[in-house]
Amino acid sequence: MPSKPDNDPLQVPVLYLKGGGPVREPLLHRLELRRAIDLLFYFPRDYQDFTQITPASAIQENVQQTVFGVIQHYETQSTRRGKLLKLKVNLGPLTLEAIWFNAVWQVKNFAVGRPLFLTGKPQWKSNGPLGWWQMAHPILFFPANEILQMFRPGQDDESELENCLPHPFLPVYPLTEGLQQFHLQRIIEHLLPTLPDLLPEVLPEAIRVRENLPPISQAIREIHFPKNEVAMKAARRRFVWQEFFILQLALNIRKQQHRVNLRAPILEWSAKIDSRIRRILPFELTEGQNQVISEISNDLAQPVPMNRLLQGDVGSGKTMVAIYAMLQTTAGGHQAVLMAPTEILARQHLRTLRKILHESKVHIAPLFGGQKTAERAAVLQNILSGHAQIVVGTQAIICNHLEFHRLGLVVIDEQHKFGVRQRAHLKTGTKFDPHYLVMTATPIPRSVTMTLFGDLDVSVMKGLPPGRSKINTFIASEERRAKWWDFFRKKIGQGRQGYVVVPRVEENEQDDYRSVKTVFDELSNGELQGIRLGIVHGRLSNEEKEAAMIDFQQGEIQVLVCTSVIEVGIDVANATLMTIENAELFGLAQLHQLRGRIGRGKHPGFCCAFMTEKQLPDDSSDVSPPTTNPISSESESGTLQDRLATKKKDESRKRLDVFAHSTDGFELAEKDFELRGPGELFGTQQHGLPPFRIADLIRDRDILTEARAAATRLVQEDPGLALPEHQKLRKQVLTRYGAVLELGDVG
Ligand code: ADP
Ligand code: MG
Repeated sequence: MPSKPDNDPLQVPVLYLKGGGPVREPLLHRLELRRAIDLLFYFPRDYQDFTQITPASAIQENVQQTVFGVIQHYETQSTRRGKLLKLKVNLGPLTLEAIWFNAVWQVKNFAVGRPLFLTGKPQWKSNGPLGWWQMAHPILFFPANEILQMFRPGQDDESELENCLPHPFLPVYPLTEGLQQFHLQRIIEHLLPTLPDLLPEVLPEAIRVRENLPPISQAIREIHFPKNEVAMKAARRRFVWQEFFILQLALNIRKQQHRVNLRAPILEWSAKIDSRIRRILPFELTEGQNQVISEISNDLAQPVPMNRLLQGDVGSGKTMVAIYAMLQTTAGGHQAVLMAPTEILARQHLRTLRKILHESKVHIAPLFGGQKTAERAAVLQNILSGHAQIVVGTQAIICNHLEFHRLGLVVIDEQHKFGVRQRAHLKTGTKFDPHYLVMTATPIPRSVTMTLFGDLDVSVMKGLPPGRSKINTFIASEERRAKWWDFFRKKIGQGRQGYVVVPRVEENEQDDYRSVKTVFDELSNGELQGIRLGIVHGRLSNEEKEAAMIDFQQGEIQVLVCTSVIEVGIDVANATLMTIENAELFGLAQLHQLRGRIGRGKHPGFCCAFMTEKQLPDDSSDVSPPTTNPISSESESGTLQDRLATKKKDESRKRLDVFAHSTDGFELAEKDFELRGPGELFGTQQHGLPPFRIADLIRDRDILTEARAAATRLVQEDPGLALPEHQKLRKQVLTRYGAVLELGDVG
């Protein structure tokens, strides 16, 4: 039993709230709604809009709309997948059908002749000559009698209605099974007359007014039951702004604290060191490389640890930047470590470093999985004694509590998941913290850099090394296959090399995607007969992978049939051809990464992506399910599944078209982000941060920029948020982010 309500009305347990009670209590608890205040901050995910009632004649397919009508007929049917509830509603000139699965409890509200509003996305259905509108799982609203007197179905003047409905917008909340919209609407509505006035205002008055944000009490009222759209937007903006603001304050404070508390070795830069390093490097550096190198060199020479993210498109030459930074580190008498996410890439770095440094005295220590115990012990000893100056290996091994003699710099290559929290646990051997350089070719949308990576400094490397040729991209259908392979063979005949990328390592029974092995066998005996093929995928041992990569690099293997293990970093300039099978299974960023393997030399690149013809619908979360129970039944499953499949196919097609039309990684990333949302790569949880409650990194980009500027300004004015008027803010920052961001005792 919850404790007895104390004197604070905001803390009253839901059990004692009007509309709460013992039946609802466990349901509300399931949504983490325990006390009155939790309900006030339980924000609607959408609204049912009664200001725009769509007349029957103006219904549009697939767009959320509200219609008004009278119940004409209803029935339930048992299907194998649950109870189907069908409702026919007379809209005047026509009848609309509403369907639900497993929502039979609603029947008790139904009566023939009863007027109601329905909000949902109508679909046009047809059966032979008959056609009708259908809404799956619409939201219902039964208006009171006095409203109805003002309004009759079929009537075209709805302006009256707006003035007499209790609320022009009804909130639509995320629900849990057994809880209905009107339950939550009612409980929350009862709290609104008095409780919001008791909420403390966290935002300092000066900031709130300057940023044109409504006061908390008003914002709470208007976010639940807005009086009009302007008020709704203002209320939402306040909470989004506040959410971003608190995070930006936390990130700013963290950065500030690092600056004050952490010390790193000073790695001097001088013209002499610079020219010594440049003499070793095999190329004249590009303008983009020089630009970021000057930023990095400057950071390394400071006593504060560098914490820099280097973003550079695929093939822009990040490795050289890393090598420069590592050589500046060794010149400064410290050790550097370079880690890569895969062994293939780590070994490639090792080869590159050995080639570039073979005449210098710099000692390189490799650390890999398959090393023999004695060999490994020797390497570890060299790292500890300081004999090893540059350590190269995979993240998995290096992050494993290595002990250094004098570690000065950590370089992490191809880091996609570097969030605000991740740092390797390395014993530097000194009282200093190392400098960090994180490199990624995954272009990170600006709004994400500003939030999840908000405490890093970001360098963006522009341009590609000279002498690169264009990459041509085609999205092809099956009938073009033979032609493509003709072309592929011709280019191989001219001495080029190629990749054939297959998404699956193994076949499975749920779908008919071919595995990398199957494709390899088919090609060996078919289109690519007589050509030297190799195979690489994640199930091979590291030795096998390494052997194949070396053979490919040396041209022994002409065509590499592989999975996306080659996605990151692999650099073989003579490889100019790429076939991508079942391309719809890859994300846009990943496709761009894959394509980045070709077009690294003077010959133009050709990439052909095949999309699977017949696509099986799956349960992938890309397709958002209907709002409550997913619809699924004998009679409907065919059409719904078709719809989902078509939707997926359209999305894939769109993604692939975008891919074919741009080779600019940053442009692609922004598009991908818009098409698919932050996704797993950039979701807050990936980065160890609590999820946003209301803010949306895509939709609310502009608000983010404003909140960030305000946070930077405030931390400059009052670094520890020590002023009395900032105490509530300070508390909120610590409550929400104190632990995850290790903010310690602010101020
Ligand atoms: P990425 O940024 O994708 O890691 P790499 O570092 O692998 O790119 O570089 C891609 C290719 O460009 C490599 O073959 C590398 O040797 C070459 N390269 C790098 N910098 C230059 C330069 N300044 N001039 C010419 N080629 C360069
Ligand atoms: Mg690279």
